[in-house]
Amino acid sequence: MSRVKKIAVLPGDGIGPEIVDEAVKVLRQVEEVFGYSFEFEFAMAGGGAIDRVGTPLPQSTLDLCKNSDAVLLGAVGGPQWDENPPDLRPEKALLGLRKGLGLYSNLRPVTLFEGMEKSSTLRPEVIAGVDLVVVRELTGGIYFGEKTRVKTEEGEVATDLLIYHEHEIERIVRLAFQIARGRSKRLTSVDKANVLESSRLWRSVVQRVAKEFPDVELEHMLVDNCAMQMVRRPAEFDVIVTENMFGDILSDEAAILTGSIGMLPSASLGEGSLGLYEPVHGSAPDIAGQGVANPSATILSAAMMLRHTFGYEEAAQSIENAVRTVLRRGHRTPDIALSGQMAVSTEEFGDRVAEEL
Ligand code: ATP
Ligand code: MG
Repeated sequence: MSRVKKIAVLPGDGIGPEIVDEAVKVLRQVEEVFGYSFEFEFAMAGGGAIDRVGTPLPQSTLDLCKNSDAVLLGAVGGPQWDENPPDLRPEKALLGLRKGLGLYSNLRPVTLFEGMEKSSTLRPEVIAGVDLVVVRELTGGIYFGEKTRVKTEEGEVATDLLIYHEHEIERIVRLAFQIARGRSKRLTSVDKANVLESSRLWRSVVQRVAKEFPDVELEHMLVDNCAMQMVRRPAEFDVIVTENMFGDILSDEAAILTGSIGMLPSASLGEGSLGLYEPVHGSAPDIAGQGVANPSATILSAAMMLRHTFGYEEAAQSIENAVRTVLRRGHRTPDIALSGQMAVSTEEFGDRVAEEL
């Protein structure tokens, strides 16, 4: 028997609590089926935490996460907090968790499940066979560089500093090469080296690290071109590695390839084994509380937790297969339901996946 794994659960706002419930349900089923032991501890983060204790990321939540083996997060944010000052925005909880836990890499697998072609707005022949991973740098770049805003005689001026240190690039690029080595051995490094100095540094670091991975086929691509190729020939990508903001934009674009943003899981990792697992989508305030949210992204994020933090590969695959089977049988939430078929609720989808396990 392996030791009890401690999972910090941060349901967050909007649909967060609904989808996290289903992922926890599936993890409890994994305990039953595989004999593992998980200890779930729930804590506040995001808008709900602002309302109750006046800060998006209470110290007690950060401490709990630091003392856990893994973190499962729903989503944070909502229109009621949009006008808050910067330090009182729910999203601040995400940045605080990433920085506070040293999670510098974000893995976003983009997989088209069987039969999902019809749910996408793209043509089936374009997305057939899509199976890629976006590896996004998460703790550097323009999100964290100094920001200024000053009033001048000619009006206001604002700046955002885009800064990268060599070591920040090197560690994410090495991880991406390792991931590519375990897959189809193709890596696309995305930058804007024709314009940005930080991208020229990025490219030179990639070229240096590439010498350690002669078995991986490397290509450099400008971000504007990548955005186009992503919808033109997405099945040709294997692993994409890129800096923070390019990764943010490209992975949202990639969501279209899977039929629904409700299908995309993610893992955020650092030096140690601690990881944070969350769906790529946001808190979807427009559908919150209705029991219609697709919990797949969160359930698949739990599978990534089993794989990347606990090393429970068989259990991870079992969850992925269960989701695949449930979708194939046509049990689908409204965002991916086929025309003429009754959609299932968030809870029912979770039940089906647990049963299938
Ligand atoms: P954020 O700023 O947090 O990324 P966002 O404004 O980009 O949030 P999301 O919350 O991701 O937006 O929602 C975008 C759209 O996708 C909304 O219409 C929402 O209802 C839908 N959506 C998001 N997640 C799901 C889900 N799990 N199931 C069904 N629909 C979803
Ligand atoms: Mg978004």
